This record gives sequence, C-alpha cells and structure tokens, in this order.
Amino acid sequence: MKRIRLRGHHLLCLLGYRGMGYSAAFTANMTRIHATLRRQPDTLVELVDGPDDLCDHFPPDQPRHCEDGNVQRRDAAVLAQSGLSPGDMRPWRELEVVLGARFVPADIPRLCSTCPWLPYGVCEDGLRRIRAGEGLFPVGDGTHDATRNTSCFS
Ligand code: SF4
Repeated sequence: MKRIRLRGHHLLCLLGYRGMGYSAAFTANMTRIHATLRRQPDTLVELVDGPDDLCDHFPPDQPRHCEDGNVQRRDAAVLAQSGLSPGDMRPWRELEVVLGARFVPADIPRLCSTCPWLPYGVCEDGLRRIRAGEGLFPVGDGTHDATRNTSCFS
C-alpha cells in the first residue's frame, strides 16, 4: 500500500476538507487522498517537514506559500501538540485517535488564526467528528459539490 506524505497542519486540514481548494487539479488530488484515508484507514502516513503530497498539486500559476514561515510554524505547533515528529510513520487510523485525544475544536482558531478557511467552521466540525468517532466527512460521494474552488486552502 502506498504511503501518503503529510505535513503537520494538513492533518487538521484533512478533517475539515469538504471538497474545496485552489484549483480543480488540487481538489481532485486532495479528494483522492482524503477518500483513501477514509476508506482505507490502515493507509500509512509519513509525517514530513515542509511540502507534502497535497502541496505537490498546488497550482503553479498562483503565489506559492508552502515554504512560508507561518505555515511551517503551524506545522510545528500541530506536531508538538500531537506528540509526533517529522519522519514518524503511522496508519491514518492511529492518527485519528491521536488528533481526537490531543485537540479540541477551540484549538483550531488558536493554531490557524490567519487561515481564510477558519470562518467556515468546517475544521472545528471535522475535529468534533473525529472526537465522536465518526471519522472523516464523506467527500466526493455525491453528498455535496466536490469540485468547487475557493481562493485558499492552506
Ligand atoms: S483552519 Fe485552515 S489551516 Fe487550520 S485546519 Fe482548517 S484549513 Fe487547515
């Protein structure tokens, strides 16, 4: 089974993912990764320092922020609170348990104060789902529009 490379803060972004992102190619890739983790939670995730398998599909014609200091500080803060480090490898199933045990919805506005996605409330909702053992929100199953684009998904 292919492992998926994720940076720290994208662990939380995946909980809030509802099918929106920078471009059609970006959301297609993120929906594919999200669906793999949801349907095959034994998939191995390798935690990385810096750009990951989501960043790989960032549109080349938009200002790239994947190496920005504030994004890297958010990665470090999420990993520190998770008790995880770059290089760690865990099945997604275990990461859900860690995230649900170590984070509460109120952590999202504290960690992500500059993210344009914050006002949507989807990441707090995703964290509530994980803490309730409900898993990732079903994306791309015909329950909502998985192709809509917005200006930002960090
Ligand atoms: S608020 Fe933004 S950076 Fe934070 S988890 Fe959600 S999408 Fe990711």
